[in-house]
Amino acid sequence: MVRRISRKTFLKEIGALSLFLATEAHSFWPKDKSVKKSVKGHIFKNDAPEIPWKWSIEGFYYTKEGKDVRCGICPNRCYLRPGDRSICRSKVNINGKLISLAYGNACAVHIDPIEKKPLSHFYPSTQVLSIAAAGCNFRCLNCQNWEISQRKPEEVRHYELFPKDVVRNAKEKNIPSIAYTYSEPISYYEYMYDTARLARSEGINNVWVSNGYINKEPLDRLTQYLDAANVNLKSFDDDTYRSLNGGRLQPVLNTFKLLHEKGIWFEITTLVVPGYIDNEDMIKRMCEWILKELGPDYPLHFIRFFPQYKLNRLPATPIKTLESLRDIALKAGLHYVYIGNVPGHDAYDTYCHNCHKILIKRDGYNISQFNIVNGRCKFCNTPIPGRWEKK
Ligand code: SF4
Repeated sequence: MVRRISRKTFLKEIGALSLFLATEAHSFWPKDKSVKKSVKGHIFKNDAPEIPWKWSIEGFYYTKEGKDVRCGICPNRCYLRPGDRSICRSKVNINGKLISLAYGNACAVHIDPIEKKPLSHFYPSTQVLSIAAAGCNFRCLNCQNWEISQRKPEEVRHYELFPKDVVRNAKEKNIPSIAYTYSEPISYYEYMYDTARLARSEGINNVWVSNGYINKEPLDRLTQYLDAANVNLKSFDDDTYRSLNGGRLQPVLNTFKLLHEKGIWFEITTLVVPGYIDNEDMIKRMCEWILKELGPDYPLHFIRFFPQYKLNRLPATPIKTLESLRDIALKAGLHYVYIGNVPGHDAYDTYCHNCHKILIKRDGYNISQFNIVNGRCKFCNTPIPGRWEKK
């Protein structure tokens, strides 16, 4: 039945509805788009095993307050009461000691081409023995390896592989480098450090693939054994670091500066997540910072995002977006800017920054042309930054 109402009643009811929409219904929408929620990880209370297990070792960097401990490896500085587990899931407080559960406890072991790290200027077309143990100090919504990075060491399959075993494997197979990769090696710092030290003594290169979220002292100590790194610069915005990764920007910038000071060869990776990392102004500021603080020679890799993990509703990065960001970086003055995850794209190849001829022509991970001789462009003799002569 149709209810007949006067104009006055109609206006009154519309007014009430508007008030409802203004006061109640708007709660369905984000209140303030500028306020982004941090996704930083939390301490796992009472989640430690009662006794250390076979793969346990005491942490290298921690302080004690009675029976409580505070880890000093990364800026999370986890404070653990007895029985607690860290944000990165691989450290626990057992009876007042900080214990790593990741030591000698690899969950992934593969032989990769070095280009997969990605490293385009570090002994191209050589192999790298890649290892990982479970854990990560970040909570990236787009994580590609969440099955191992967002898991406890006890939850994943493991290979008993102590530092001497890793190095022996590399030597027996004649593989020139070992990479600490896939999950976050900062979470298995002690395992990485001891392996790297032993590898160096055997003439094997050490490659660190990381989010760079580490404190100065442990990084400083690690650099004495590092030969190369690929470090993610996930964005150039602190809010985005908080809301997409659960970290902060400045410690990562500090890592780049320290690697640069120490003369470690590194390459920079930025995964271009649509809606988060495709802001051209931000990329321009990022490239200007790289140029000013690190110089033009460290390669920058813009990697195509594909929907995954907690961002599986986002589209893949449009290739045009990657190309525009690459143009911005080149115009800003960076010499070597690559596009990754787009098979067959011209920006996989290396071009001389002086004469612009092709130095390395790549077909996926294979090389079909190599025009660098004694570290110089074969055409114009310009020195090409990187590590070229095989050991
Ligand atoms: S390395 Fe792990 S335990 Fe140490 S502070 Fe970082 S997240 Fe916490």
